[in-house]
Amino acid sequence: MLTKSKSSALWAQRAELVSNGSAYYTEIVAERAENATLWDADGKPYIDFAGGIGTINVGHCHPKVVAAIREQAGKLLHTSFHVCAYPSYFEVCRTLVDSLTLKGPGKAILFNSGSEAVENAVKFARAFTKRRAVISFQHSFHGRTLLCLTLDGKHKPLRSGIGPFAGDVYHAPLPNPYRPPVGVKPEQLAEYALTRLDEMLLTDVAPEDVAAIIIEPVLGEGGFIVPSEGFLRGLRRLCDRHGILLIIDEVQTGFGRTGKFWAMEHEGVTPDLVTIGKSLGAGLPISGVIGRAEVLDAAPMGAIGGTYGGNPLACAAALAVFDIFKEEGLVARSQKIGETVKKRFDAWAQSMPIVGDSRGLGAMRAIELVADKKTKEPLAPAKVKAILKKCEHEGLIVIKAGIHDNVIRTLMPLTIPEADLNRGLDILEGALKA
Ligand code: PMP
Repeated sequence: MLTKSKSSALWAQRAELVSNGSAYYTEIVAERAENATLWDADGKPYIDFAGGIGTINVGHCHPKVVAAIREQAGKLLHTSFHVCAYPSYFEVCRTLVDSLTLKGPGKAILFNSGSEAVENAVKFARAFTKRRAVISFQHSFHGRTLLCLTLDGKHKPLRSGIGPFAGDVYHAPLPNPYRPPVGVKPEQLAEYALTRLDEMLLTDVAPEDVAAIIIEPVLGEGGFIVPSEGFLRGLRRLCDRHGILLIIDEVQTGFGRTGKFWAMEHEGVTPDLVTIGKSLGAGLPISGVIGRAEVLDAAPMGAIGGTYGGNPLACAAALAVFDIFKEEGLVARSQKIGETVKKRFDAWAQSMPIVGDSRGLGAMRAIELVADKKTKEPLAPAKVKAILKKCEHEGLIVIKAGIHDNVIRTLMPLTIPEADLNRGLDILEGALKA
């Protein structure tokens, strides 16, 4: 007689108890995890290429993070920073400000989620510029709160049936090197997209009404699209021309993911505001906005905040994360992982009919799956699902992205042992071939 596994019995509760609005990538019920391995409720190990959606860049339950949280838990769990301050909050802000090049002095403020950081960055930009409009990009993802999902460059399912949406948000075309507009050569793409944006400022919204342009330096949920080289620098020039603030959303790309500590370093752009989250807390909820002091100071006292933002436990975890990055050279490690993954993905793009594109920066890499390499018709979602299910069965957690759900992306811990990395890639290769 077949006995039901502990995991599947636990999983059954999801349908009974949890809102259908909450998506799932796998049917794994986790029990524990260490570095790049996660064990389910039946003790089955999985190599983790999802890292809590890019949150676990320092590895699951890094001993330094765990020790810092344990020590903090015995001292102070919560005050609300608005009621009583604590030194770790200042230390996190100082480290974040020091990690960036800004025009003039910088400041930071901490929140709980990436969405909250993005919401507040827009508030700062509006308060400083006294303008109301925001431009984001098609294919982008900035979160699920009402303003964020209005910014998102993907409609279904994020906005399905839950409007009305926030006002004064405009979506610009993104220079996507794999899918350029007909007749536009790769070397012309950045300029083409900038021209379209200039046009939008004549047809859709006046530049003097635009508070900010927000962009991910590499699109995360949008399918790991690296905007054409020069595009971010062009955006900076356009913003400067019109007094528009440039918000760089590093929630998914930050903390070494792309082979630089911040992805914007690849283009050498200076932001006005940066939103961060995910790997800052190594699994604890913490996010933030970093930016020009005069912009962060433009909001009146009391306009910005929340009960939990920059909670002491999360700050302790974040300080451990900064130490680990230095001690273990994780930015260099991201480049190394990227080389290994790129080699395999490029070879698959050459040899496998369903792998249309191999792309990314550092360890932030992806393959785009297609039904036909010539037409670039996206591979049917059911087929992508079958590939990911096969990976799960073989012991690899890996997740999809992209507006067609046909991109497979890598967000493994940057601490992943070489053997696990190669074994994970072998499993993915086997699933693609099958
Ligand atoms: N911005 C980007 C670039 C993201 O990738 C995400 C999350 N995937 C968010 C914002 C929203 O973060 P959160 O889910 O923590 O609200």
